Amino acid sequence: MNGAASSMDVKKENRNRIYRLIARNGLISKADIARRLHVSLPTVAQNVRDLMTGGLVRENGNLESTGGRKAVALTRVKNARTAVGIDITRLHVAVVVVDMEGEVVARARKPLPFATNSAYARTLARVVNRLVSDSGIEKNGILGAGVALPGILDPDGRKVDSYVLPADGHECAAITRYLDYPCVFCNDANAAGLAELWTGQSPDTFVYLSLSNSVGGAVILDRKLYSGGSERAGEFGHLTLVRGGDRCYCGKRGCIDAYCNAGLLSDLAGGNIAAFFQNMELGDRSAQAAWNRYLDYLATAVNDLRMAFDCDVIIGGYVGAHMAKHLDDLRQRAAKLDTFLPDGSYVKVCRCLFEPSAVGAALLHIERFIDSI
Ligand SMILES: [Zn+2]
Repeated sequence: MNGAASSMDVKKENRNRIYRLIARNGLISKADIARRLHVSLPTVAQNVRDLMTGGLVRENGNLESTGGRKAVALTRVKNARTAVGIDITRLHVAVVVVDMEGEVVARARKPLPFATNSAYARTLARVVNRLVSDSGIEKNGILGAGVALPGILDPDGRKVDSYVLPADGHECAAITRYLDYPCVFCNDANAAGLAELWTGQSPDTFVYLSLSNSVGGAVILDRKLYSGGSERAGEFGHLTLVRGGDRCYCGKRGCIDAYCNAGLLSDLAGGNIAAFFQNMELGDRSAQAAWNRYLDYLATAVNDLRMAFDCDVIIGGYVGAHMAKHLDDLRQRAAKLDTFLPDGSYVKVCRCLFEPSAVGAALLHIERFIDSI
């Protein structure tokens, strides 16, 4: 590496560290930045000027003084850029727009049965474009669209194989061919795991168990997604829970998915998972029996994950969003199965409750952009 390149790298690294510190702190002064990053005040001032010129950082009042002149507070511009997140399921599409903090600023969910034809791709583009225009989001500030799919992506993210969608070997780009944005694709449960990481309330290493209409998961090691040798890590839905048991949509018998997918519950309430929980909590006997059975299988699955990974297991997906009231029950059932300690406190409930797969897919663009600052 020559001297000029190396000094450019140092400059860029400083700017990036300064941006991330401002983003993390909410409000911070230049002097605090200099002190915390061990960078000179003129360097901080120059970088802050650059970030302000780029519209990424702004001044936001003064900080309380500890004596002397009050320091100017710097804050990140939340809506400097946004990204679209799309979660494609067999029968629906969910679309969100998230800002630089990962906060959802616009959302839509529509029935849209998946198909590989151009009518589907056109409708998808229309749903996204309408959401963007209706919510008044600056189109030029949109970094791109992230698309979460219930399937296995090849390592380049170009093709998807799926048991859930009629899309085996389908070119991802064909799905988004009428969208005006650069698109990236990812597995839906992996995206949800990333969204959980972004809440800032998860540990650095955890297993995310996504309990939606199919069961999937994500392995987050040291804040990075572990994809495995062939992009299939975290496919917890197809671990065998009951040998020779109920039929799974993958063709095997006894998979976790056959016992823990959210449809087993929502189907008892007209396809509405919130209604299922409401009925069950109001004392509906058949809902309570189904929940009791479901929780026993879930506790077994959770204990297996704990034995394999020895880290927190975060319950996510449609069921995870309703799990808070029932967490103690699940923990007790899991603790009874634990070989080492009768303690289920490692089981946690997800913090990203709203469309985690769509949010996580959008965050792929936000993350990439922040890396480039
Ligand atoms: Zn299966």
